[in-house]
This record gives sequence, C-alpha cells and structure tokens, in this order.
Amino acid sequence: MEKIYKQCQSCGMPLNKDKKGGGSEKDGTLSKKYCSSCYQNGEFKNPNMSIKEMQKLVDDILKNEIKFPKILRWLAVKQIPKLARWKK
Ligand SMILES: [Zn+2]
Repeated sequence: MEKIYKQCQSCGMPLNKDKKGGGSEKDGTLSKKYCSSCYQNGEFKNPNMSIKEMQKLVDDILKNEIKFPKILRWLAVKQIPKLARWKK
C-alpha cells in the first residue's frame, strides 16, 4: 500500500494546507507525496534545487508570508533533509 504523507516530501508544507490538495502526476491524478508548489505533471518544478536552496526558500516564505516565529522556522527548516525527496 502507498504511504500516506501529511507533509509535502519536498518542502515540508502540510498537504492539507495546499489549496490544490497536492501536486499532480503525469496522468493528472493528485500526488499524495508532494505539494502543488513543488510538483506538477509528474515533475518537480525545480528539479535541480539543492537542500540548501529549498531550506532558504521555505525560511523566506515562513518569515515573510506566514510570519512564523524564528524557533518554528528553525524547526521547519531542520526537518527538510529528512523528507523523502532529499533522503539518500
Ligand atoms: Zn512542497
């Protein structure tokens, strides 16, 4: 059985906060693993992105758009390398 993820396995955003409900696969079905800002039509939007770049992007969004306190941003950024996309 396919694993159910609560968070996007690329950026860590909770999938239930995704306006589109998740990214999309090549056949148009909803991705259960990645959000719509990371993953569309079966591909990553930024396939060459490094973990560091993703961490910076997430930190900027949390800081400027969501106004997350620093400690919560730190926690959110720290978990990114553990997500499926980045795990080696
Ligand atoms: Zn994402």
